Amino acid sequence: MKLDVNALRYLSKDDFRVLTAVEMGMRNHEIVPTELVARIASLKHGGAYKVLKNLLKHKLLHHDSSKYDGFRLTYLGYDFLAIKTLLNRGVFVAVGRQIGVGKESDIFEVASEDGTVLAMKLHRLGRVSFRAVKSKRDYLRHRTSYNWLYLSRLAALKEFAFMKALEEHSFPVPRAVDCNRHCVIMSLVQGYPLVQVKQVQNPDMVFERIIGLVVRMAEHGLIHCDFNEFNIMIDDDEKVTMIDFPQMVSVDHRNAQMYFDRDVECIFKFFRKRFNLSFEESPDENDGSEVDTDESGRPRFSSIAKGVGFLDKELAASGFTRKDQEDIEKFIEGGIEKDADSGDEESEDDGHNSDSELNKSYINGVDSLHLLDQQEQTIHCDEEARVEENQEN
Ligand code: ADP
Ligand code: MG
Repeated sequence: MKLDVNALRYLSKDDFRVLTAVEMGMRNHEIVPTELVARIASLKHGGAYKVLKNLLKHKLLHHDSSKYDGFRLTYLGYDFLAIKTLLNRGVFVAVGRQIGVGKESDIFEVASEDGTVLAMKLHRLGRVSFRAVKSKRDYLRHRTSYNWLYLSRLAALKEFAFMKALEEHSFPVPRAVDCNRHCVIMSLVQGYPLVQVKQVQNPDMVFERIIGLVVRMAEHGLIHCDFNEFNIMIDDDEKVTMIDFPQMVSVDHRNAQMYFDRDVECIFKFFRKRFNLSFEESPDENDGSEVDTDESGRPRFSSIAKGVGFLDKELAASGFTRKDQEDIEKFIEGGIEKDADSGDEESEDDGHNSDSELNKSYINGVDSLHLLDQQEQTIHCDEEARVEENQEN
């Protein structure tokens, strides 16, 4: 998705006030009635209608008059709210080029005041382009308490919390700088995703290092769940960095063994194919490592994971609760399992990422209000841009 932040410069305080009013209204309205927007925004001189027209022109809102006259945020509108908040906090001062398009995210460079370039990841749950799309949509249809904005925000919060916790345990991950709404700011990783690398000096060493990470994470009670050549970056010195954490689970998850084995298998498969490593020979050879492996050299989950409660203790400290984990797992897990069933073959985008499709997935109801409120209380890296606060400025 194109992110043209030029319009940000021309948006007034009133524009943001009305945009924020729509965001607030969306906590319990799929489409926020125009009158309600005007009421929440309560501009001093009225005029919310004119502002709405302007926001519509910039594609920050979507107008829907099918049931009643109303508006909802587009992803661009949500982007603008997050970016504006982070600009106000002084986290960065400029948005640069797009450096990555993930399955469910867009990644851009941003620059801080002193010129440091950081990475900004905008989560876009719901913009799925793989097989799991159907199961996810079915799931959401039956779970009225979830919507895409909420899930994208949860994904960002989770990613931020895990990145911070992993960093504190000296895992090679980007430095978690800040997060707001569906947006995570982190340090920019030098190098390339492993999938783009055709040759390395020491494939054996790189392989050992990467498998070592899966093992050490499990020792700390965690499984990445999407550990593959797309989510491992490598630089010219063959230093590896792992990225992409919204789907991580604890080793006490009921499918932990399957996820762990699958992560390991992805790495074995990739190194066999790309760098011709062979793992079949001399399985009994003692390579000096203390990791318990099976006959084929694959680390044995049961003897590594000790079921430590990493998630509960350390992540709660970052504002990510067990409840958040359960909420997001219900959504992402369906995708993970479907992916595993369907092999690595990707299906093309089926066009269901259109605004109207997203729109259908914004669910109204008391439940979503409840969830959002609950989340709000636990987020400390995300001081909400509350309308009330804005109104005081
Ligand atoms: P997704 O969850 O959508 O797969 P990722 O976090 O894997 O998103 O990011 C997608 C791509 O963006 C990565 O493959 C990588 O090329 C790039 N990228 C993500 N984070 C960073 C970062 N911190 N530094 C540099 N590039 C990054
Ligand atoms: Mg990825």
